Amino acid sequence: MPTSKRIKKERLLQLILNSTDQGIYGVDTKIKCTFINKAALKMLGYKENEVIGRDMHNLIHSKHEDDTLYSKKQCPIIKTLSTGKGTRLDNEVLWKKNNAHFHAEYSSFPIIKNGKISGAVITFNDITERKHIEEQLQDIKNKFSSLFGSKAIGVYVIEKNGQISQANDYFLKLISRSKKDLAKGLSLEKITPLEYKRIDEQKINSILRSKEIPPYEKEFITPDGKRIPVIVGGALIEKSNAIMSFAIDISTRKKYENLLKESETRFRTALINSPVTVFNQDKDLVYTWADYFSKFFGSKNPIGKRDQDLIDNKTDAERLTKIKKEAISLKKSIRREIKVRHKGKTNYFDLTLEPTFNQQGLISGLVGGIIDITREKKLRQSLLESEERLAMAIDASNAGYYEHSVPARKGFVSNRWSQIYGYNLDEIPPITKIRKWWLTKIYKKDKKKTYSTYKKLLRGEITSFNLEYRIKHKTSHLKWIRSFAKASHRDKKGRATYIVGLEFDITSQKNAEISLKESEKRLQAIIDTSPALIALKDTQGRYIVVNNQFSKFFKQPKNKFIGKDDYSIFPKKVANVVAKNDDKIIRKKQTLRFEETYSNGKDKKVFISSKFPLLDSLGNLYAIGFMATDITERIELENRKDEFISMASHELKTPITSIKVFTQILQRQTKNTRTNNAKLYLKRMDSQINRLSNLINELLDVSRIQSNKLLLNLGKININRLIKELVENIQATTDSHKIIIKGSSKNKIIADKDRIEQVLINLLTNAIKYSPKGNKVLLRIKDNKDNITISIKDYGMGIPKKYQAKIFERFFRIDDKRFSASPGLGMGLFISKGIIEKHNGKIWVESKVNKGSTFYFTLPKKSIKLKSAKS
Ligand code: ADP
Repeated sequence: MPTSKRIKKERLLQLILNSTDQGIYGVDTKIKCTFINKAALKMLGYKENEVIGRDMHNLIHSKHEDDTLYSKKQCPIIKTLSTGKGTRLDNEVLWKKNNAHFHAEYSSFPIIKNGKISGAVITFNDITERKHIEEQLQDIKNKFSSLFGSKAIGVYVIEKNGQISQANDYFLKLISRSKKDLAKGLSLEKITPLEYKRIDEQKINSILRSKEIPPYEKEFITPDGKRIPVIVGGALIEKSNAIMSFAIDISTRKKYENLLKESETRFRTALINSPVTVFNQDKDLVYTWADYFSKFFGSKNPIGKRDQDLIDNKTDAERLTKIKKEAISLKKSIRREIKVRHKGKTNYFDLTLEPTFNQQGLISGLVGGIIDITREKKLRQSLLESEERLAMAIDASNAGYYEHSVPARKGFVSNRWSQIYGYNLDEIPPITKIRKWWLTKIYKKDKKKTYSTYKKLLRGEITSFNLEYRIKHKTSHLKWIRSFAKASHRDKKGRATYIVGLEFDITSQKNAEISLKESEKRLQAIIDTSPALIALKDTQGRYIVVNNQFSKFFKQPKNKFIGKDDYSIFPKKVANVVAKNDDKIIRKKQTLRFEETYSNGKDKKVFISSKFPLLDSLGNLYAIGFMATDITERIELENRKDEFISMASHELKTPITSIKVFTQILQRQTKNTRTNNAKLYLKRMDSQINRLSNLINELLDVSRIQSNKLLLNLGKININRLIKELVENIQATTDSHKIIIKGSSKNKIIADKDRIEQVLINLLTNAIKYSPKGNKVLLRIKDNKDNITISIKDYGMGIPKKYQAKIFERFFRIDDKRFSASPGLGMGLFISKGIIEKHNGKIWVESKVNKGSTFYFTLPKKSIKLKSAKS
């Protein structure tokens, strides 16, 4: 071939070589590069002059992908040079100038010249991308086949016409079909129960829009009619418009769910009449399902709604939502009491929330239960109120209050309870230890009794107790406690499970009670040992108490009197007197003394009975006390004494009268004698005899008055003249006092002249006698409407108040040195009183110590009838 032609051919070749994107280069027998095209240089990153003449194996092919040596002996390209046969390799690694590598498809062909191998031409392609795609494909293939071979998921392909074209073994088993059945033709419709036809269609139609079918629950049906619950889903295989589907058997889950549903049904039937609502909400708190919702919010259908759409009161709806969000965010079940105001009503609910999770363990929503507890709440509130009221009442009663929940070892003690023991609430041990603590506080002598009673209550042998025991107060004083306790709840065996108790500090009452008992005992002892008859009667006159002496005197045991009145004990005559006296006490509410005579059948005895009213704190009379001293003997003695005095005075009167007569005879005989001595002595004798005779007369008068035998010799008297003559006579015997008469009477009265004179003499001589430092005595006569009052006033020592009534008693003389200086026998005033009273008059005294006394007596103008004038 001529050179020019050759060159032309070479250029053409060059052009062809460079227009392809396949890498091409040539080597000689020594593998040295003879030419290389642009695509090859680009892929390898070299320039032409860096490659030509170089050993191409060493340059681009000396290492495997893992950097291990690729020897020339193994190199198929070099083999081509020795064998003359072409080689093709799918995947070889070629190294670039920058030491990076790529996967290449690679082939070599020998150049034969004149029947001899002169070199080789190598072509290659970068297959990195293709390889990558291939790998991905493989991956998908692997995955698919593993899915297909899965023993847990049914995999099947639904064709456009609804036929199942492919299915894995698991799926076929699930629907109880064989590979043969599949080959014969199996439609989706055939394996699906009628009621799921529509949802299947819907889901399949939607796939064109979203390319996938989100999982949903349905059932397949086996040839023998068994239903298989499944979750199915799928994705579009785009080119073929077929659907790659999967099915997960959920029959075991369903089985449990059904069981659950059954028990739920039972549960629901039980609940249907109770105010319970159950619901399901998704995680956005939209209701997806609810039962008995009407009980909660009326007839609204809550599905698809939120609480905000359902509850009138926004605050309550928000609060409810907040709680639900909390359950979701904390992934925890929550139980709360909530208040919901809706349609003008306020209801209280017990809300239980339970978060639900999907299979991935993510929160999917909530299930909840709502129980209407409005009624209970209101009951509880009113209970609380009444409890509060009770607590107030307890506080007001000053009682300490405690509760003991036995098995729970819980309880409560009120502030006051601990205060009774002397402690503040924060000073006492926690409630679980309080029983032990309490035991240490009980006084040792009462511990056994107290604790065993409490134990009895715990064991149910008693249902309550009312106990008194002593405790050690914080100050270590002993205190009396009254303790009431009651088992408010008991278990089946009757043991107390809940005890409530009240404790009162009764120390002061108890002390009072004890001292009362003691003083009662003392009093009873005094009463019983008293020689007096003592009794208490109620206002109806029935005996409440009688003493030993009383029962001894009437010869009856004490209890014979109790509850009886005097009429059933004494003869009517005695009872009448007694009742009359009792009446006076009831009317006057004063202590009074009476002389009463009682008979015990054998003896008749006289008593001085002191009767006194017993008044309560309000001044009401509730009983009459009676204390009688037997004075029979004293009276007898006095009577004997009186008899003696009267006899003695009578006996004395005769000899004295004789002596008087003899003295007068002697005086007459010595009238003319000169011996003055005899005359003088006889005169003195006469006056002493007069005194003696007066004394005896007085004694006789006393006896007469005492025995009511004083007789009056009545007559008309002129009191003015009587007084004038008498005063003149008395004035004649004294120089020390001037007796002044004031006033006069215009009346003539009927009286015993001698006896009135006797009274006047007595009062005037006393006035002089008991006013030794005085110098006058005032006698006043005064006319009144019905009587004449005569008063005798002295300026003497006076009479102390306490003696003013007593001086009119028989033989009474003031037993005081200051007042008893003057001689006397204490008969004058007694006789004067007797005389005046016999005249139906009155006698009394007004006196002030050291100032003097005024004695008054009255004489009635007309009451004394002349009938007594005879005596
Ligand atoms: P007597 O003989 O003791 O005077 P009376 O019966 O006349 O007895 O008096 C009784 C007592 O009353 C006297 O002992 C005296 O203490 C007191 N008494 C009577 N009159 C007066 C008087 N005018 N002033 C003070 N004391 C009097």
